[in-house]
Formats: sequence, C-alpha cells, structure tokens
Amino acid sequence: MNILVLNCGSSTVKFQIIQSDPERLENGSERRLASGLLERIGSQALITFKAEGQTPHKSTAPLKDHRDAIDQILRWIVSPEAKIDSIRALSDLDAVGHRVVHGGEKFQKSVLIDKKVVAGIEDCIELAPLHNPANLKGIRACQDLLGEGVPQVAVFDTAFHSTLPETAYLYGLPYHLYLRHRIRRYGFHGTSHRYIAFKYGQVMGLEPKDVNIVSLHLGNGCSACAIKNGRSIDTSMGFTPLEGLIMGTRSGDVDPSIVDFLHSKEGLSIVEIDTMLNKQSGLLGVSGLTSDMRELEQEETHNQDRRARLAIDLFCRRVQKYVGAYLAIMNGADSVVFTGGIGQNSDVIRQRVCAGMDWLGLKLDEHKNRTLPRGEGGEISADDSKLKIMVLPTDEELMIAQDTVRCVAGARCG
Ligand code: ADP
Repeated sequence: MNILVLNCGSSTVKFQIIQSDPERLENGSERRLASGLLERIGSQALITFKAEGQTPHKSTAPLKDHRDAIDQILRWIVSPEAKIDSIRALSDLDAVGHRVVHGGEKFQKSVLIDKKVVAGIEDCIELAPLHNPANLKGIRACQDLLGEGVPQVAVFDTAFHSTLPETAYLYGLPYHLYLRHRIRRYGFHGTSHRYIAFKYGQVMGLEPKDVNIVSLHLGNGCSACAIKNGRSIDTSMGFTPLEGLIMGTRSGDVDPSIVDFLHSKEGLSIVEIDTMLNKQSGLLGVSGLTSDMRELEQEETHNQDRRARLAIDLFCRRVQKYVGAYLAIMNGADSVVFTGGIGQNSDVIRQRVCAGMDWLGLKLDEHKNRTLPRGEGGEISADDSKLKIMVLPTDEELMIAQDTVRCVAGARCG
C-alpha cells in the first residue's frame, strides 16, 4: 500500500509517501518513496520536494492555504519530473494518514476518519486552538482533492498517553475543574514515544509488555515519558505542550504565580504572557540568542558565551530532574533513551544529561557517545552501567503509516 503521511502545522505541511506491505508490517520493509516540506503557507511559500534516491528540488510559489499546499503536493507526486517509483496517478495512493495533535479523552487510538471523527477533532479545538484547526484543514483538503474513496486515518499525538493513571493525569486543582472542563495532563509527542517503545523492544528482542524505559524526546519541543510495561505511565507535557522540560522557546515548568506577578509588574495581558511563555522563553529566552541548540553549543564553545552555557545547563538539569523523578515512580527501568533532533545528534547534551547520575545507575561510555554516527541509533552506556543508555532516531511518520495500514485493513475486514 502507498500511504501519504501528512503533518499539517499552522503554516507548514510536511509529508512522506511510505510504501508498506500489510503482510509484513513492523518488519522494517517500508520504503520512503518521497518526502517534502512546504513552509510559509499563506504567502510566498518555500517548497522542498524529494523523491527516493534523487536530490531535493526547491522552489517557491504563492500558496494561500493548506488546500493549495496539498494540491501542490498532489500535482508534484504525479508529475513526470517527480519520477516517484510506483506512483503514476493519484489512484496509486491507497490511503492518507494524518498527524492530529489533540484527541482529548475521546480518541485513545488511531481511527479511520468519518463525519463523527471530524466532529470529535473539532470538539478538541478548544484544547489545541493552534494545532487541530490546521490538522482539520489537511483532512478536508484531502477529502476534496482525493475524493471520499481514499480512506483517511487520524493518528493522535495524545493517544499513547491515554494509559496515564489518574495520579499522573490529575493536577492538584479543585476536582470539579476536571469534571467541568477536562483540565488534566494529556501529554504530547505520543507517536514519537510510542515509536521509541516499539523500536526499543525490537532492538532488544523484547515483547512490548516488557519494555521499561524513560524516553527523552529532545527537539524544538521536548518531553520525557515514563514507559512501564510498554505503556505511558507519566509524561512531562501537560494540559498543553508548555509544561515540563525547557524547550527551544517554551519555558517548561514555572510557578503559575509568576503569571499574576508579571501582569502587575510589567502590565502584560494574559495573552501576552502566554505568548512569552510559549515563544520567547526556554533556550531562546535564557540565552537571549537563539532557540537552536546547535547554535548555542557553538556560541558556548567558540565565543565562551556565558548565557549560552547557562541556557544549556538549565536545559540539562531539567532533563536530569525528570529522569530521576521517572525512575522513582517506575521503581527503576532498563534504559534511558534519547531521541529528537537534540537527543539524536548532540553527544554534548547527552553527556551533560548523564553526568553525575551514576548513583542512579546511569554511566555513559564517553567514547561510544562521541563516536556514534550522527542520526544513527546505538547503545552508549558503559559496560558496568546499571541502566542502558540508548540513542534511537524517532520515526513518527512510520508509526502513522503503520496505523493507517492497520485501520484501513481493519475496516476492510470489519
Ligand atoms: P522538531 O521538534 O521541530 O521536530 P527537531 O527534532 O528537528 O525539531 O530538533 C531541532 C533541534 O535539534 C534544534 O535545537 C537543533 O539545533 C537541534 N540539533 C540538530 N542537530 C544538532 C546537532 N548536531 N547538535 C546539537 N543540536 C542539534
């Protein structure tokens, strides 16, 4: 089956076409036929298309909305210059898998999209006002452009965390607020953490129920997840993706009283404070330079920039605190796994996170850590480390494609 995997953000659309054999799911037999990224939708968009085995093709075009963007993708897919193996016409696309950010309490796993599912995703807009509308635009554009005959599947970022126990998902707030407004921890990056649990099990030859790890997704957005017996039992992002670790531009955990204090001291409105916490904080806010970890590492090394160092130190310390907390509630684990742009690529951050955690059972092999090829997976713990330390590149698109195949097959069987 040829699956179009779509990830629609507020002004971006990312896609991959993944060819998957329904009889051999999870065997690593998938092929990436093509991929692409469309940025700055709403104005003169930057477009990158890449077919398997070919060099990326970059261009610009005025794209007014997500429908225009997806139309552009579909035209390219079937164009002679794309030369995508196995795709000659749109009818060669068998299904579409959409990343949907928020499934609320309603969606605990991936589902085939119908009118009821669309209404359910709409109901979750108040929980994810920036993300779910973009995801819905993508779904509607595909229905329009590909027709109702091409099945579409929604894969939710929150779904993997639907196994959180009450003690993990409730806040210490008046209980009626949960009942009235569903204010609780939902958690995000679920598809990535689920992939890490799946991949770890595969690499170590374990049944899913035997996977006990702390998964660290460190990218622009960052989250930690405690995975016990293959299920998410706690995670650092909360009601929104703002909570938890220090991220590129998000503050992560702060004392909520700061909001009121800032309101009176700086005369900022609630909306302005929310923007500050989400867009001007984290690595960017502390360093005053950039939200990009690679650039911060360079500033620290080449220019001895004090605030770049401070931002990195704060970042690593917060990760350490979550690792410690999760090992405590899990009563130990087998491994700590790094993933995401920072986790996969930065030996410096991995080294600083693991430093001084040997009492907890984490002992890095510095040589293995330093020499692990960028973007590749592998074990980086010392032979006498009680816990394994692993690097596994995440692959959310693969999870979305696999779920899409399963949901479509299930619907055909059912
Ligand atoms: P997103 O969360 O948007 O998917 P990524 O997972 O791609 O983002 O992560 C982006 C982050 O990864 C950026 O902070 C970037 O600087 C960082 N990163 C990528 N490569 C490296 C590297 N070699 N060293 C340090 N940081 C890196």
